[in-house]
Amino acid sequence: MSDEAQRTARAATPGSAAAFAPEVEAAIARVRNEVARLHGELVRYGLVVWTGGNVSGRVPGAELFVIKPSGVSYDALAPGNMILCTLDGEVVPGTPGSERGPSSDTAAHAYVYRNMPEVGGVVHTHSTFAVAWAARGEAIPCAITAMADEFGGPIPVGPFAIIGDDSIGRGIVETLTGHRSRAVLMQNHGPFTIGKDAKDAVKAAVMLEDVARTVHHAREAGPLIPLPQESIDRLYDRYQNVYGQAGDVSR
Ligand SMILES: [Zn+2]
Repeated sequence: MSDEAQRTARAATPGSAAAFAPEVEAAIARVRNEVARLHGELVRYGLVVWTGGNVSGRVPGAELFVIKPSGVSYDALAPGNMILCTLDGEVVPGTPGSERGPSSDTAAHAYVYRNMPEVGGVVHTHSTFAVAWAARGEAIPCAITAMADEFGGPIPVGPFAIIGDDSIGRGIVETLTGHRSRAVLMQNHGPFTIGKDAKDAVKAAVMLEDVARTVHHAREAGPLIPLPQESIDRLYDRYQNVYGQAGDVSR
């Protein structure tokens, strides 16, 4: 743990409502609400089964993030049982939900937050069609305009990595750094998506499964027509910069 993280963790004691500065407490509460609510989107779009999958969100202005607890049913997820962690992936003791373990993917989320400061949200699922591409270790080719709009090109494959150390996080960061795509297919495992906030990362997870399904079905029926790079570039630029704010699902 960094000095800052240790100080942050020590400051949070059970029953102490003012463990953090008021503006940090307010930010934590907002992120708890948002992350708890966004888990419902994973269910709504059919991206998860049982207790699998997880969403996390960075707490703006603090070296903290909020993530789903481990092994809790989606129906029982609420702001009060989301888990507050330091950027080292350590649970902040004495905070709501801290008696329970965080998602088993917490180390990967933490690694992304430490190494990609622009990232405010991370999502992991085992959504069916994205995992099917990951099982083949095959990038999803950019053959439809929706992919060019949202991801700016193909969805890349990340290395095969086993849970338990930093290797998943490292694989995500190495694959997505400098890449337009907010989604990576970790080989033989499944997708991780990132975004400017948790909602943006959830949107990427939903859109990823949609394009993974479409391109899968398209290729089953015949060869794909790749989009020319110039068209991909124009579509991506228009969607991200002209058409509306990236991540705004209301447009
Ligand atoms: Zn997984």
